[in-house]
This record gives sequence, structure tokens and C-alpha cells, in this order.
Amino acid sequence: MRFTSTRDSSAESITFGEAVLRGLAPDGGLYHPTDEPDLRALIRSFGADSTFVDVAGAMIQALFPEQYDAAAARALALKAFPFEPRLTRLEPGILLLELFHGPSCAFKDFGASFLAATMEEQLAQRGDRAVILTATSGDTGSAVAHAFHRREHIDVVILYPSGRVSPLQEQQLTTLGGNVTALEVEGSFDDCQRMVKDAFVDETLRQDVPLTSANSINIGRLIPQSFYYLWAFAQLKEQIQDELVFCVPSGNFGNLTAGILAWRWGMPVSQFIAATNTNDVIPEYLRSGVFTPRPSIRTLANAMDVGNPSNFERMKTIFSDGMLDIASVLTGVVVDDETIKATMKNVYDATGEFICPHTATGVYAARTFLEAEPGSDTTVVTLATAHAGKFIEVSRDAIGAEPEIPERLAELMQRKKEATRIAPTLDSLKSFLMERYST
Ligand SMILES: *Cc1c(COP(=O)(O)O)cnc(C)c1O
Repeated sequence: MRFTSTRDSSAESITFGEAVLRGLAPDGGLYHPTDEPDLRALIRSFGADSTFVDVAGAMIQALFPEQYDAAAARALALKAFPFEPRLTRLEPGILLLELFHGPSCAFKDFGASFLAATMEEQLAQRGDRAVILTATSGDTGSAVAHAFHRREHIDVVILYPSGRVSPLQEQQLTTLGGNVTALEVEGSFDDCQRMVKDAFVDETLRQDVPLTSANSINIGRLIPQSFYYLWAFAQLKEQIQDELVFCVPSGNFGNLTAGILAWRWGMPVSQFIAATNTNDVIPEYLRSGVFTPRPSIRTLANAMDVGNPSNFERMKTIFSDGMLDIASVLTGVVVDDETIKATMKNVYDATGEFICPHTATGVYAARTFLEAEPGSDTTVVTLATAHAGKFIEVSRDAIGAEPEIPERLAELMQRKKEATRIAPTLDSLKSFLMERYST
């Protein structure tokens, strides 16, 4: 599998390893596969007894046969994934695909950890080093910080919007130290994202600092996210009566794009549901055919507060700029803050379980989808994107009760925050990077 920019598919294609190290294409586009392998036979061969590492290893080898034989692919899968997804039943018709059993307790651990493992491997082979620059609305940064902490050949710089991430998320970003530096930006997540994008196309920076990205624009994060859709499919395929649908709480749309890739490679699912908070640019696009990015709005599901989802470029590429009908496979559901809280509460009342505000958008969207198909036997797998214990303030407010904080997070609350405040401009980011890392 080779990769080109979403903005110029006629440019020369590059390998996975190169695309991973470059992050963003020089023209500002995103790297995307040039072809869609037909992996139906392999995907059909996965069964309920396949472990996540089995699926991941087989997929790595099938996607990158020129780089990995079976043993090397499995070794990479084992190194990248010392944690696993879990499937649980929530209520009739709805399952949760729990993706929060990794070090930062959110699904981004899967992509970040795979990326860290691959990148370290690539850099070691080349005798190079890299500075990872990433913007976070909350969870990307902590997953990246944990995945890359203490890796050799790599420094990490994380931009986050001041006052717009939860206290626990902030601790996760700012207390690791070592090769991980947190920049507290006086602006929104969109500002952070714009600064990062601008830095990658800045000539001086590109020459002096070996920058690469690690957020959802990096293809090395996106590809491994397809593996858990395939694993979930394998777990369920014998049990499913009727249709299988995946429901994905979405912000920057990396997770959903990974699911759509799995479908293009041959995973037999009938639909995807994009659950968003009131940052509803994509649901609106699915209704109207018009994509109107706008400044993000702050919501309770703050890791999804994205007003200009980057991965829309990849979705357009997959659907050949409208030649394939995206609306026939993807339905959008918009969920406001009151509904997020009501859903967290009624799930707790019915089951005694806490779900996080992002997962709540997915559960509400899954229910809405099923209500429109009364009497069907459709199974909706809703991605549970973070552990509820990362958002205790929201649970307290919505439910009047608090989930337990996982041990590995509770410990971070005791540590001292270290962050550098900067203005929301490219210039301020540039001077910081030049001073610290220019070669
Ligand atoms: C990042 C994140 C999302 C959104 O995922 P995208 O890939 O950006 O669409 C949803 N939930 C949580 C908890 C997240 O951290």
C-alpha cells in the first residue's frame, strides 16, 4: 500500500513509513492510500476466537506486505497493543465497543501506541530523530504523551487550548516531563490545530526542525483504528441476526474514517452513524451536500469540539468527490448537551453503569437510529471512546454520582503541572520550536 496527498493524487506516492514520518503532505493535504485492497477473504477468516493482536498482525501484513512478513507484523502488533478492546451489551440492539482500556483510558491509545511503535522503528533504521508536534482537544494529547513518553529518537510538543480541557486531561498532558513538553495556548482547539498545520508548511521550520505529526491527520494513527472495527465484526458475525451498524462519536472524524476504510477493504457492514455534539458540520453536509466549517462550539463532549474536521478531506477522497454516495452509508445524528446529560443519567439509572459524555452521544444516536427501524434486528455497535472516570465533573452534574477514576489516572492528579503558555499565533509557536529544537 502506498500513499499520496488528498490534494494531489497525481504526485509521486510514498511508502507507509515515509508517510508516517512526514505526517502532513507538503501541499497541506493528508496522506491517504492510493488503492483499496480487496481483503474480503482475510476479513472473513477472522472469527470469535481471533484476539485483537491476531487481527492487527494479520492486517498489518496484508496492508504492508512489502514491509512486514507475518512474524514482523505480529511482533509490531504485540509491541503496539499491550491492551485490548472489549465488547459489552448495553441494551437490546446496542453493544458498546470499549476502547478505553489503554494507558490514557481513551480510544486514541490504539492509534498513538501503534504510531509510536512504528515511528521508533523507522527512526532507528534511519538513524534519525523527530519532533512530534500535535494539537489536542483533550484526549489526543494524553494518548500521544503516554505512547511516546521515553521513546528514543523522539521529542513531543503538545498544544492544548487553555481552560478547554478537563483538569484530569490537563494533568495527563502536563505531568509526564522528560521528552514531552506541553504548550498551553491562549485560544481554542481550532487555533491549536491551525498553528500546527501552519507550522508544517512553514519553510524555515521545515528546514530546521525535524517535525512530524501524531494527531489524527497522521495516517499511522488512522490505519490501526480500523483494526478494532474488524475485531468487533469477527466477534459478532456468528450472532448477528440482521444488519450490523457502527455508531461513532465523532469530532475530527479520524475514527469514523478508519471504520469506512475497513468497510472499503471488505468488512460487510451496512451503515455507519456519525454522532456529533452541536459541532454539526458533517451531519449538516450529509443533509445538504454543503460543507461549511466554522469556529468550534464548546460542549460537554469536549474531545469532539471540532468546527473544521480535518478528515473530511479523506472522506471526500474515499467517496471520489461525490461520485460515490456517502449519504447511503453514513447517517448523522446531532446531540446537544442536555441530551448528553439525560443519556448519561438514563443509562446509569437502567444499568448502574457510567458512560462518558462522548459515548453518550453515540448511545443516543444509536437509539435514534434503531427507533427509525422498528421491528428490525439491527445490531448497533457504539464505540465507547473514553472511560467515564475521565469526566467526573460531567457525571456529577448529570447523574449526581461519580464514577471511579481508574488507578492509572488518579495517580497523575498528585503530580505537578508543567506547561508553557503561548499566544495563539504561528510566530509564537515558531520561536519556541526554533529555540528548543533547531538543528
Ligand atoms: C478524539 C475523541 C473523539 C472524536 O474522535 P475523532 O476521531 O476526532 O472523530 C471522541 N471521543 C473521545 C473521548 C475522543 O477523545
